[in-house]
Amino acid sequence: MSLTGAYDTDNIFARILRGEIPNVTVWQDDQVLAFMDVFPQSEGHVLVVSKTSTARNLLEIEPEVLTALTAATQRTAKAVVKALDPDGFSIMQFNGEAGGQTVFHLHFHIIPRWAGREIKGHGHAPMADTDQLKTLAARIAAALD
Ligand code: AMP
Repeated sequence: MSLTGAYDTDNIFARILRGEIPNVTVWQDDQVLAFMDVFPQSEGHVLVVSKTSTARNLLEIEPEVLTALTAATQRTAKAVVKALDPDGFSIMQFNGEAGGQTVFHLHFHIIPRWAGREIKGHGHAPMADTDQLKTLAARIAAALD
């Protein structure tokens, strides 16, 4: 899929937001949802999406929505660091198929990093155990300010 085109209302995150597919939620409000990536590149990999926008990528996102989304990403990253004590973390955001994007509903990745520990490749990680994701989500949620 290119950078231009129509929003697919049946993309996996749209279906999650409509409640058609389960997710392991970390936290949500009226504007954003933070949930566990089911193919985590490292332990504690969280995704943050807008509930209100149908922007597929950074070029399309409304500035005020981007403001809320980046604030939510920062809030979630703080909780990830407090809960899991990584040595660092990566914020990733991919645009267009050629840019590495696989789900065309704009989202930010929060990927905790530990020194000396490689992360799994984007799109090459195995599916995580749901109970383990729930445990991680609960730990991160408990660390939210
Ligand atoms: P991107 O390639 O940047 O579009 O990222 C999409 C992300 O969504 C990948 O990291 C996938 O592992 C993740 N993903 C795909 N399906 C699901 C799902 N049902 N629940 C949670 N994360 C998902």
